[in-house]
Amino acid sequence: MESVYFNDEHEFFRKTLRTFVEKELRPHADEWEEAGMFPTELFRTFGKLGYLGLRFPEEYGGQGLDYWHTVILCEELVRCQSLGLGVGLLVQTEMATSVIDKYGTPQQKRKFLAPAISGEKIAALGITEPNYGSNVAGLRTRARRENGDWVINGSKTFISNGARANFVTLAARTEGEGARGVSVILVPTDAKGFSVGRALKKMGTHSSDLAELFFEDVRVPVSNLVGEEGRGFSYIMELFQGERLVLASFANGIMQVLWEEAMKYGHAREVFGQSIVQHQAWRHRLADMATQMEAARQLTYFACDRLTRKLPAQKEVSMAKLYGCELVKRVAETVLQLHGGYGYMEEYAVCRFYRDVAAFGIGAGTSEVMREIIAKEAIG
Ligand SMILES: Cc1cc2nc3c(=O)[nH]c(=O)nc-3n(C[C@H](O)[C@H](O)[C@H](O)COP(=O)(O)OP(=O)(O)OC[C@H]3O[C@@H](n4cnc5c(N)ncnc54)[C@H](O)[C@@H]3O)c2cc1C
Repeated sequence: MESVYFNDEHEFFRKTLRTFVEKELRPHADEWEEAGMFPTELFRTFGKLGYLGLRFPEEYGGQGLDYWHTVILCEELVRCQSLGLGVGLLVQTEMATSVIDKYGTPQQKRKFLAPAISGEKIAALGITEPNYGSNVAGLRTRARRENGDWVINGSKTFISNGARANFVTLAARTEGEGARGVSVILVPTDAKGFSVGRALKKMGTHSSDLAELFFEDVRVPVSNLVGEEGRGFSYIMELFQGERLVLASFANGIMQVLWEEAMKYGHAREVFGQSIVQHQAWRHRLADMATQMEAARQLTYFACDRLTRKLPAQKEVSMAKLYGCELVKRVAETVLQLHGGYGYMEEYAVCRFYRDVAAFGIGAGTSEVMREIIAKEAIG
């Protein structure tokens, strides 16, 4: 056991997962990218293998494991080289269902959490609106009480899994203005008045679906409110910690794959009589890159350690998300450059990753928002 963070059980989990990803998923990556969506059946496959409920209680079909397993899941899933799969699955396990696990009623857990863990139901998280992204407290989708129901009106955009979700964990305004009026409500997508708009064409992560959602007098029972009315904003901010660690861990996993690609290509390709990695200009550039990658990984593990020990971790998680998600863009650019013209060709992994990571400074809180959080804590 080399790591202070990972024990033998974690390492075994990583090994099993890596074999599964390389044997069962990697061969299909190009097909899924081309199709613009990974197969829906994979939710059930992952559910059966237990990967959709790693942290959740066994009572609802989960594994009752620690957050380190989620970190490993993220680091290893990206090896399939179709990042959209990781996005779709982690939206299901970390982003749309954590709030039900933490604040949901037993009935909500049976109805929404358990089938999400087994992969029978697909979940999406609906926060972002056309005019309110970073400013979550400003959101305008409204839910009003009427005869034992919530009646919901509004729209959401950029929703991962949105095109095929069975339910949406929705942030809606139940009263007034600002953060205090936001609540979280579970909305089945077969409810009357719910519709999916156009499937959004994106720059990368081609195998995950991203959609606009519309709510027109959508009625759901008042019992679909998660936790307390008006506390949704604080739940979202709290649970963003896990979501941001997911992004940081994806970034670390991708940087590791890119490093391996750089080593493979850089050793094999000769320019002016010696391999690329024998040229000092590249040796120094790669040495800097290896150092920064290690810093990003250790910062993520440090943040995860604080989170799992239930210590305040908002600043550390934001630092890990900011540093890793900005660094991965520079690493992708460097590795593409090292490949010369080949790096610009679709058949090389770096080409796809270069596009995919462009969104890393945007999703789950932008880099500017991360800097705001860090500044608030560090400077006051
Ligand atoms: C691939 C992808 C998947 C996504 N999946 C989901 C999902 O499943 N569910 C969901 O709800 N959302 C999802 N999103 C939306 C994402 O969370 C938002 O795009 C993000 O929060 C930013 O919001 P915005 O796009 O409205 O940008 P804006 O908030 O309009 O920001 C525009 C620019 O202004 C900057 N800015 C904002 N506030 C400040 C400030 N205070 N100081 C300085 N600069 C600032 C931002 O950093 C950014 O550079 C996804 C986005 C992408 C790209």
